[in-house]
Amino acid sequence: MTVYLVGAGPGDPGLMTARSLELIARADVVLYDRLIPDGALAGARADAELVDVGKIGGGRQVPQEATNELLLEHARAGREVVRLKGGDPFVFGRGGEEAQLLRAEGLDFEVVPGVTAGVAASAYAGIPVTQRGLAAAVAFVTGHEDPDKPETQIDWPALAAFPGTLVFYMGVRQLERIAAQLVAGGRPASEPVAIVQRGTFADQRVVGGTLADIAGVAAEAGVRAPAITVVGAVAGLREELAWFAAGPLAGRSVAVTRARAQASALAGRLRALGASVVEAPAIRIEPIAAELPDLADFDLLCVTSPNGARRLLELVPDARALAGPAIAAIGPGTAAALRAGGIAADIVPPRAVAESLVEELAGRTVRRALVARAEQARDVLPDALRERGAQVEILALYRTVAEPLDAAAHEAAGAADYVTFTSASAVRFYLEAAGRPRDGARIVSIGPITSAALRTHGLEPDVEAAEHTPDGLLAALVADAAAAPS
Ligand code: SAH
Repeated sequence: MTVYLVGAGPGDPGLMTARSLELIARADVVLYDRLIPDGALAGARADAELVDVGKIGGGRQVPQEATNELLLEHARAGREVVRLKGGDPFVFGRGGEEAQLLRAEGLDFEVVPGVTAGVAASAYAGIPVTQRGLAAAVAFVTGHEDPDKPETQIDWPALAAFPGTLVFYMGVRQLERIAAQLVAGGRPASEPVAIVQRGTFADQRVVGGTLADIAGVAAEAGVRAPAITVVGAVAGLREELAWFAAGPLAGRSVAVTRARAQASALAGRLRALGASVVEAPAIRIEPIAAELPDLADFDLLCVTSPNGARRLLELVPDARALAGPAIAAIGPGTAAALRAGGIAADIVPPRAVAESLVEELAGRTVRRALVARAEQARDVLPDALRERGAQVEILALYRTVAEPLDAAAHEAAGAADYVTFTSASAVRFYLEAAGRPRDGARIVSIGPITSAALRTHGLEPDVEAAEHTPDGLLAALVADAAAAPS
């Protein structure tokens, strides 16, 4: 079996190589680092083992020895292992050491280069690392070493004399010393410097200065890792060549309280808009064992949520079982979930609430209806149908239960700029688990039912989506962020 040492690129998912995606899709095991693009693992097999070796819980790094052991253990067991690293595996990624280990143990490996941050973050900041007349060479340098230590690996005078661009990785905390050493070595204090934080991500940030003032500028701007620092005349081109626009939610933190299974799609889209996302799932969907009644006898089947749609499809032994009744779906997400199972809903009301379906069904004679939904749900729809003389049966397919919040998620959600709620049950369980959002946090509700739940807890939503779908929620959030500069 071969172990693949794979680069995932610097952050923009579009910069992952075709080869990396192909290997991720095939892997039995993926051992991945913290700094990989959002959704990098979306194409992995459902039964693949995905192991985060970048951190334990809140942030401690898994020691390299432990990663090595996992690598050997899975490889020896004959599993197809992808060791996925940010950027390029052989550029400050310890990929070389892992390759040495595999070779020493007689295990085959293949290296899949990735787009390295030094080149990509520079490019996304409008900085070509080489440029005719300005820089004929480029050096990648680790900024990690403490330049005052005698054992430092960097020959600072030689580096200062290097005839070209210097790109420092991991150096944001050493900026002052790096700049001082370079000036001491003879580089002009007026030499341009640019720092690119989270380069190629939708919340990329670039700050610029000179060797003389960059440390102050970065401290002032609160620059944090991951960032690269580009020193050289090319850094001065960034204003002329800037092209990458940060997303409309750049600089905003957004807490997502919906169930983990559904949170990731919303979280991914928020991140694509530049938000930093805190996943704080307060609820979980628990399936309820159920049996599909014979539908030949029903003239209407109502499906009230995407979860209900997915559960319903699990219960359908044969698509023909659904052939009898007209099918109504509340919300485009529910209709889409049905469509994924090959079922086209006949009725999708304009607004994603039960009231809207009740209106939509006004002119229709319904004799017998089946409502597939959560165990606990509002009775607006069954009540209205019964009032019109229909016989209504409820098919409870799942229940929403509390999901405990870990301490890190609790803390991060508490500090978020926005807290989003996509259901009344998320409101209730989130407030039970995390308490009220901090003063100043903006509360975003997907629609009137969720807003009503917030009000019963004494909270007034700052933003309510006009269209009661995740898309509508995103649109409302973006509009609010645009109106209220961070
Ligand atoms: N193998 C990676 C580098 C790993 S070392 C590569 O080839 O890119 C980690 C350092 O890389 C960070 O401290 C930071 O300096 C840099 N880095 C990684 N991703 C980055 C990004 N998106 N933007 C800016 N710097 C990044």
